[in-house]
Amino acid sequence: MTDSGPRLVSSPAEMQAETAAMRLQARTIGFVPTMGALHDGHMSLVRRARTENDAVVVSIFVNPTQFGPGEDFDAYPRDRAADLEKCASEGVDLVFAPGGGDMYPEGHCTTVDVLRLTDNLCGLSRPGHFRGVATVVLKLLNIVQPHRAYFGEKDYQQFLVVKRMVRDLFIPVEIVPCELFRDRDGLAMSSRNNYLSAEERVDALVLKEALDHFRRRVEEGELSAVTLMGEMAELIESVPSTQIDYVAIVDADTLEDLSTIKGRVLAALAVMVGDTRLIDNTVVEV
Ligand code: AMP
Repeated sequence: MTDSGPRLVSSPAEMQAETAAMRLQARTIGFVPTMGALHDGHMSLVRRARTENDAVVVSIFVNPTQFGPGEDFDAYPRDRAADLEKCASEGVDLVFAPGGGDMYPEGHCTTVDVLRLTDNLCGLSRPGHFRGVATVVLKLLNIVQPHRAYFGEKDYQQFLVVKRMVRDLFIPVEIVPCELFRDRDGLAMSSRNNYLSAEERVDALVLKEALDHFRRRVEEGELSAVTLMGEMAELIESVPSTQIDYVAIVDADTLEDLSTIKGRVLAALAVMVGDTRLIDNTVVEV
C-alpha cells in the first residue's frame, strides 16, 4: 500500500499479474470479495484477512448475474470513494473493481451450478442466484488466486456453496468463514440496511429477536422445528411492515429441512421489511 491508499485495478489480466508477483515474493494473499457499499461487517473480514496474510485484496463488483429480474441490481448502493477510503484505513493493498464487460466478456457462455445445497432457503426463493454467485466467485478466485478467501456467515448458504464448489473443483484456496457482524442494537450489518427508513430500521430488529427467541426456546428444551418456526413467524408477523419470505430450520451442513432439533442446526430468516429484503441466521448445537 502507498500513503494514498490501495492500488486500484480493474483489468483481470493486470490483477493476475499483480498477485503473481506477490506469490513470487512468497507473500501470502488474503482475499475479501464484496459488492461494495462497505460497512463494518465487510471490514471485520478485511481485518481478519490482514492478520492472517501478508497482503490483502478486496474486490468490489456488483455482480449482475446474481440478481433476479425485478431485484435491486440498479438501485444497489455504490460509493466508490467511501469504499476506497475504508480500504485505505484498514491497510488493504489492492482493490479489484472490474466493470461488467471485464468479468463477462462478449460471448461468455460458462456458468457454475452447485447442486442440492442450493435447493433450499435463498436458492428456492431466488432462482439462479447461486449460479451467479458461484460463477463470479470462481472467476474472482481465478483472477486473484489468493491463499485464503474470507466469507461472512451472514450469507451462510453462500459460504457453504462456495466451500463446496472449492472442494468439488479442487480450487487451491482456503475458504475462511467469518462470524456474522451486528450493529450495536443487534441488526445484522448489510449494505441493504441503507434502504431502510428510520421506522423500518427499528422494525428490522424483529429478525434478531426471532433468532434470540429460537435460541432461548431450544435451551429450554423445545426441539420441534414446526413449533419453533411457528413461534418465530408469529413474532415477525407481529410487526406490520414485515412480510416473511422464509423462516427455516435446517441441518447446518446439508441445509436439509429438519423436524427435530439435533446436531448443528441453522435457523435462517429472509424477511421483507417494507421493500427491503433482509436475511439473518444463527447456528445452535444440540
Ligand atoms: P456483500 O458485499 O454483501 O456481497 O458481502 C461481501 C462479503 O461480506 C460476504 O462474504 C458477506 O457474507 C460478508 N458480510 C456482509 N455483511 C456481513 C456481516 N454483517 N457480518 C459478516 N460478514 C458480512
